[in-house]
Amino acid sequence: MLVNNKKGFLNKFYLFEILTGLKITMRNMLFAKNVTIQYPEERRTYSDRYRGLHYIKSVNGVENCTACMLCPTVCPAECIHIVAGERPDKEKYPVKFEIDILRCCYCGFCEEACPKDAIKLSNIYEMAVSYRDKGVYDKEALLVQRGTK
Ligand code: SF4
Ligand code: SF4
Repeated sequence: MLVNNKKGFLNKFYLFEILTGLKITMRNMLFAKNVTIQYPEERRTYSDRYRGLHYIKSVNGVENCTACMLCPTVCPAECIHIVAGERPDKEKYPVKFEIDILRCCYCGFCEEACPKDAIKLSNIYEMAVSYRDKGVYDKEALLVQRGTK
């Protein structure tokens, strides 16, 4: 099969393609709705079902958690670490409760499994950290009440 490689003067410089590209760019610049936002001045509203940063529900500073170990058992990312202790009234509580938010896949299984409704995922999505170890939230950090769920 013979291929005709001869191009016209305009085609040699791809003028038609360049003009088509410019037309699309101008149309998008002038008439299309912006899909980006000026973060952090502007913020999107996320769904109530969005799963973000965890917190442990507490009443008067006392965590609802009874260290039953269900959440670390169901966690597929194995990122929950709990050390259980016992109060004088024999109720168990977490002496240590850590979540590695950089390993977490935000599946929400921990929230679903908790019989005390203690562990929650808020709709906070700003979780960037400067160092790896800052991604491990301890009990004190998790007791900051981050949501209304
Ligand atoms: S959201 Fe999923 S991965 Fe993250 S801590 Fe809970 S169970 Fe583990
Ligand atoms: S499932 Fe709930 S009560 Fe049990 S250890 Fe986890 S947060 Fe605590």
